[in-house]
Amino acid sequence: MSNIKEHQTMNYDTQMLSSSEEDIEKAAALLREGKVVGIPTETVYGLAADALNSTAVSEIFKAKGRPQDNPLIVHIGEFSDIYKYVTEVPENADKLAKAFWPGPLTMVLPKRDIIPMTTSGGLDTVGIRFPVHPVAREIIRRSGTALAAPSANLSGSPSPTTAMHVYNDMNGRISAIVDGGDCAVGVESTVVSFDKDGRVRLLRPGFVSLEDIKGIVGEGNAVCAKGVTEKISDGEKVLSPGMKYKHYSPKANVTILCGTIEQFTKYVSAHNGDRVCSMIFDSDANGFPFKYITYGDTSEKQARELFAVLRSLDDMGAEQVYARCPEQTGVGLAVYNRLLRAAGFEVVNL
Ligand code: AMP
Ligand code: MG
Repeated sequence: MSNIKEHQTMNYDTQMLSSSEEDIEKAAALLREGKVVGIPTETVYGLAADALNSTAVSEIFKAKGRPQDNPLIVHIGEFSDIYKYVTEVPENADKLAKAFWPGPLTMVLPKRDIIPMTTSGGLDTVGIRFPVHPVAREIIRRSGTALAAPSANLSGSPSPTTAMHVYNDMNGRISAIVDGGDCAVGVESTVVSFDKDGRVRLLRPGFVSLEDIKGIVGEGNAVCAKGVTEKISDGEKVLSPGMKYKHYSPKANVTILCGTIEQFTKYVSAHNGDRVCSMIFDSDANGFPFKYITYGDTSEKQARELFAVLRSLDDMGAEQVYARCPEQTGVGLAVYNRLLRAAGFEVVNL
């Protein structure tokens, strides 16, 4: 991985744990001691530590090589725990929690002092999520605290959707990894904040879509933040620190090609080479004449497969990847948002 060199070497004997009751208890015990553990969630694997323990949380930043101003999401084990960590739950936040929790939705709210600044990346707000994955919930419950957990990849790499992905990035860097199988959603949680007038602002699209959110709070009461589908210029103020970082990138240069499969094939034919690989939809594969890898058809399947596909492109030694452009509605917006970052915003309209 290109960015491994930039990360300081660490030397942990990383334990691989199953999701048996005994192993879940081992993971919870490590978390109670302030250690860092890779855990499964329904979105992607998380790199968990006690969210209230600033020393434990700084170990997450070290293990990932994550910039310290990029805040961590705090995962709670009970709906009502939100009141322990935030000072205010606006009406729309309450409605969204009732509709989508437990599940892949993070809400950014004003934090209480109990959340250390290390966890919130120096902000006076904190992102809270109540996950639905039974193993994640049991680990949180047994740890007796809330868990700060960013995606369990090295900073900049594609997020991990299997325990093996976590192992590849984190072996030797953290205390343990709990294997809970493949992640059902495959992209990180939807992140929202609330404007002063109560309007919901979508900071990061995910499985809970903008359309789903509008269905709960009303069409006019939810908007997409700048930065979700367009590039933020250097020095521009962002609502969500994660927006400014390069992300989800395989080693290869990725270019998104928007157009029909015929236009796509013609473009690849003119730009083909040994180390070129196309990322196409399942239904395009029949008869596609160049080297390819498929990444699903429905937006839900694309979300589930995207990060594993980006990782396999590295294994294949691809240097240039041409990707078919996903939908930009529903869950498709989450896929497009991640692929856009993997591509460093390089899009060609055919
Ligand atoms: P990850 O932990 O890798 O899933 O990334 C979490 C992302 O959630 C961050 O990069 C931020 O963009 C966003 N986020 C978390 N907490 C906040 C917050 N307090 N304010 C704004 N965005 C946040
Ligand atoms: Mg991440």
